[in-house]
Amino acid sequence: MIPLVKTFLPEPQVLMPQIEEVLYSGYIAQGEVVDKFENTFQKLFQVNNCLSVNSGTSALHIALILAGVQPGDEVISTSITAEPTNVAIKQAGAKIIYADIDLKTGNIDPVSVEMLITHRTRAIMVVDYAGVPVNIPEFLKIEKQYNIPIIQDSAHALGAKYKGENLGNHFRYTCFSFQAIKHMTTIDGGMLVIKDDESYEKAKLIRWFGLDKKKDRMSNNITLQGYKYHMNNVNAQIGMVQLQFIEDILKKYIDNGIQYDAQIINGPKVEKLQYYVDTKPSYWLYTLKVKDRDNLISVLKENGVFASPLHKRNDLHTFLKSQSNTDLTNTNIFSNEMLHIPCGWWVTAQERSLIISIINDFNK
Ligand SMILES: *Cc1c(COP(=O)(O)O)cnc(C)c1O
Repeated sequence: MIPLVKTFLPEPQVLMPQIEEVLYSGYIAQGEVVDKFENTFQKLFQVNNCLSVNSGTSALHIALILAGVQPGDEVISTSITAEPTNVAIKQAGAKIIYADIDLKTGNIDPVSVEMLITHRTRAIMVVDYAGVPVNIPEFLKIEKQYNIPIIQDSAHALGAKYKGENLGNHFRYTCFSFQAIKHMTTIDGGMLVIKDDESYEKAKLIRWFGLDKKKDRMSNNITLQGYKYHMNNVNAQIGMVQLQFIEDILKKYIDNGIQYDAQIINGPKVEKLQYYVDTKPSYWLYTLKVKDRDNLISVLKENGVFASPLHKRNDLHTFLKSQSNTDLTNTNIFSNEMLHIPCGWWVTAQERSLIISIINDFNK
């Protein structure tokens, strides 16, 4: 069966000596390797103020704290995402206000968001679902006009671009995940990209108990609630090795995605997504809108191809249910139709052609 997600790890001959070196170096906590990983990531993806953390969820939580989210505040979000997006909002004590999505892309709709802004809205969470960048210019306008921080959950969108530039630093906060099945894994880990220098310095304190790593323990004075969210040298070393391969790996996802875009033909049962102007997705998953979805899943399965909606719309979880009565018409349609097909580095050109012909036959 061709899987929908698959972990990429470099060959043991390449990876293991590097891990071993750090493991027995006498320093496995957060140290120089973590700094090196952050700097290398920063250079490679051309974004500033990169703060590595132990998970994408920690990155989201720190961003929410930096945005000033307090218990009882409202955070506008989307239900078409993986659960961590909205669990992090609850962790910060806020109310989740779900906006509707844009049916063309599956991403949170700026028009719907704007209608939900109140004096209690403290942050807006936007998700580049499946690797498709959100409507960046419209959300930048909203961030500016209402002075409400936008947190971009780009856990699916490493390598995606807007106007030729990588995501990160468009909004005040951008979060990436290096969890096992993302484009790039450090086993577990995440990166928070922060636009403002002052917030970046504060984030370093929040990442590590509120302690300042630049000062010795006795001259430290904790003044805020911190967490144990840092990345350690071992995970960072895995990240260093992964960064040697990430451009090739991303290219494979993107090449497959571009071929699907070009060769899958819109028809009565299957329709492709559209992308916003000047954006290039990084296709962590390839998403189709399918009428008669279960039937297509079965046909693909008979041919050895795994396809699935993968994520449960988040507002169906009791703990994550909507705390407003917003009309989510497009979310209802999209969540019933969305289907992901394999698109990653492991999908060969031959397998891709097979998938395309199955879908185009089904769609006649
Ligand atoms: C994976 C993921 C996260 C969180 O990442 P972890 O590193 O697993 O904590 C957040 N948001 C989305 C959309 C994700 O898919």
